[in-house]
Amino acid sequence: MADIVELLPGYNCGKCGYPQCRDFASHIKDATDLMNCPYLTHQRFHEQLKILRQMLQDEKEPTELPVIQGVIDGLAAEFALGPLVGEKSCREDVHSFDSTLDIKKGDVIRYRPLGCPITHFAEVIEMSHGIATVHIIGPRQRMEDRDFSYKDAGICMILAFEGRIMRGNVPKVGQTVRFLPEHCMMQKIHSGVVVGVEGKNIRIEIIDLKVW
Ligand code: SF4
Repeated sequence: MADIVELLPGYNCGKCGYPQCRDFASHIKDATDLMNCPYLTHQRFHEQLKILRQMLQDEKEPTELPVIQGVIDGLAAEFALGPLVGEKSCREDVHSFDSTLDIKKGDVIRYRPLGCPITHFAEVIEMSHGIATVHIIGPRQRMEDRDFSYKDAGICMILAFEGRIMRGNVPKVGQTVRFLPEHCMMQKIHSGVVVGVEGKNIRIEIIDLKVW
């Protein structure tokens, strides 16, 4: 317990439900309890959180689920989202603000998701009511490829994700969740509302990158 106390923030602020970090430390059962201290996900406690997780994982049952953590923000997620069986990435529903752009199934589009600094390339697998459903094919499409062409969709709103839960818990419909899209170039935690669950296949809408 002494080691755990030394790695906690030491603010003794009570936000974890205990008056002092020492009291909190004596009630920690596993790595998921660490999320009750809001400061541990801050960048400055990144190293401490990593060590604490390693210490607690050594003690936990091997059947327990791993903690899923964003790299850029250090935040925890309920699950990691991968492609549906047989697909190349999670599906994203994308809306371009450019109404003059003619996007069709089979097109490759270049866009920057609103709130994300990274330019994406994606293949359109369906187009319906102004919404393109895409597979991400990467931030570094082979520009030197002679056959490669794309349509520039500018800044786009990301409306939904659809994919398969690869690690973590399966949530219920209606639940607000934090998740990590496995193809995310920044490995940043996203949030949204679950609108469909079928086994491990899930659809999440109202996508937001402002997770704190
Ligand atoms: S919330 Fe964190 S910093 Fe505050 S008392 Fe609990 S463990 Fe300490």
